[in-house]
Amino acid sequence: MLLSYTAARQKVIEVAQAQRHQPARETVDLPRACGRVLADSVVADRDYPPFDRSTRDGFAVRAADLAAPNVTLRRVGEVKAGDNFERAVNSGECVQIMTGAPVPVGTDAVVMIEFTKMEGDRVTFDRAATARQNIVFRSSEARASQQLLGPGTRLGYAEMAVAAQVGANRVGVFARPRVAILSTGDEVVDMTATPGPFQVRNGNGLSLETLVALAGGQAEQVGNAPDEKVALRSYIERGLRADMLVLSGGVSMGKYDLVEAVLAELGAEIFFDGVAIRPGRPAVFGRCQGKLVFGLPGNPVSTMVTFELFVLPAIDVLSGTSARPLPVMGARLAEAVHEKEGMAHFLPARIEQANGEPVVSVLPWKGSGDVVTIARANGFLVVPAERPDWAAGEWAPVLLRRGPEGASG
Ligand code: AMP
Ligand code: MG
Repeated sequence: MLLSYTAARQKVIEVAQAQRHQPARETVDLPRACGRVLADSVVADRDYPPFDRSTRDGFAVRAADLAAPNVTLRRVGEVKAGDNFERAVNSGECVQIMTGAPVPVGTDAVVMIEFTKMEGDRVTFDRAATARQNIVFRSSEARASQQLLGPGTRLGYAEMAVAAQVGANRVGVFARPRVAILSTGDEVVDMTATPGPFQVRNGNGLSLETLVALAGGQAEQVGNAPDEKVALRSYIERGLRADMLVLSGGVSMGKYDLVEAVLAELGAEIFFDGVAIRPGRPAVFGRCQGKLVFGLPGNPVSTMVTFELFVLPAIDVLSGTSARPLPVMGARLAEAVHEKEGMAHFLPARIEQANGEPVVSVLPWKGSGDVVTIARANGFLVVPAERPDWAAGEWAPVLLRRGPEGASG
């Protein structure tokens, strides 16, 4: 029985977690830390907000003065963001205030300017006010020394904003795992070479390098190994010097698919060598000489799908963070889909926004070697193994293609 992709993915995560040694750490300037995983905590350097802050443009008042509508108060000055009102405010007085400014001593509410009329220094308030309205009080977001980001947090744009806000200008992060990339195949030539009539350029090498970078790993190209055991073995041994090895090709049933046999010779423990998915069925996952090894099928679309499903969570774990969930969204099916039961299918698809909702169409394609079509897709329609038939108009899961050109492309 083939493993389901969810079980296979779970296995990868378990093995990677058991494997995990504390990654090395380094200190980097915050602007260069995007995508990195924190090794230390980021803590609040002071209270947030550091003062009672107005959330509106209007007037700071004593709520007790505005128990009823249509009260007039005397405007005694103003306070803008960055300033502080110089004295305590008395009953019968109000202070004009801007968003982000500290609420003057003596006041306890802010009334939006829209609900007021000002004539000279007389301000009339249309409605009653409640104490605390339109104020975010000191330390209500965070207290000084409180941990805001913990070790293991990956720094995205929101985390960068928090770290910048609290003055964490340099941060301790884990070293990126080094991921060796090894393509295989007698027919595969370097991408800079001119292929013979029956050869192909090494597209997987660069697509894997891109995927590794997007995942937060450090790619190291080992090259392209021929379909011959002795040479393949020495390439694999070189790849095993990195933290993890990802191979493409040579894992199917062909006479020259030698990856698994060579891994076995090197003493690998194989956790799975087949998954109930299409494309990507012959994907291999094992551990060899203490390193995680993935043998991905060589057809480019299979390589991409199996990377997302299995390699990416392992990179997360070796990066010192938890495996992120698959980027799956729901979309309305443009047309009916029928696939073979018992295998999960990942079909190149295009999601477009139509009438305010995402609509997904499967692109006509020539199978898992069809890179031309995959470059036009921005995701994969996921047809679950136990649910092979879908009607047009149903709400279906779509695995988004990662990267800057992904869902928005
Ligand atoms: P394999 O998994 O070795 O049986 O290869 C399956 C298909 O993928 C074959 O048509 C190969 O030529 C093609 N292929 C294998 N490796 C690469 C690569 N690095 N770049 C592009 N295509 C490849
Ligand atoms: Mg091959």
